[in-house]
Amino acid sequence: MAYVFDVPLPASVPVIGTDEVFPVHRIYCVGRNYAEHAKEMGHTGREAPFFFMKPADAVLPVLPGIVGEMPYPSMTANLHHEVELVVAIGKNGSNIAVADAAQYVWGYAVGLDMTRRDLQQQAKEQGRPWCTGKGFDFSAPIAPIYPVTGINDIEHATIHLDVNGQQRQHSDIAQLIWSVSEVIAHLSQYFVLKAGDLIFTGTPAGVAAVVQGDVLTAGITGLGELKLKLI
Ligand code: MN
Repeated sequence: MAYVFDVPLPASVPVIGTDEVFPVHRIYCVGRNYAEHAKEMGHTGREAPFFFMKPADAVLPVLPGIVGEMPYPSMTANLHHEVELVVAIGKNGSNIAVADAAQYVWGYAVGLDMTRRDLQQQAKEQGRPWCTGKGFDFSAPIAPIYPVTGINDIEHATIHLDVNGQQRQHSDIAQLIWSVSEVIAHLSQYFVLKAGDLIFTGTPAGVAAVVQGDVLTAGITGLGELKLKLI
């Protein structure tokens, strides 16, 4: 048996300080996981976590010291930034207990859940899926993954995003409504988590539009910075 055309290599994200890459299996995202962002989107901030997905090859890895380039996507006039803590899963599991969830974390990274807000808003109003608003090409810029062994106290790290040097988003991972372990526990009730999965854990308040030429700088304490230009 042969494949009818060459099988592409899996999407991947570099691992900091090595030549190794983390092969991406799936990208899960948590909606409205910071109370202040839930409020700015018109919600109370008191609901159970909910999830959506991006395709694995939506990742746009950006190395340290480099200004990555993201093409401004088609079919939108309102592209928003959402800076997020990304959890990289290192082993398979389902129905994972909150107390066991940390064992499934391989590493962490800074990521951006780039969003065609106009299309997402239309989808919400019409009860339609979010795929075109959230799951488009290059919609998941991401800095290198830091293995969990070198990370301490990520739960109290600060998270920020500046656009052209002006602060847009600034918060603390401690402000997550659902913690990393709780997110893993919830998500693993719906899907078998696999080594290679990435989980975008939600964005704090301050989401807003960016345009071509804007330079975004996103960072989380201990995980470096991601710089990205919209072209
Ligand atoms: Mn998001």
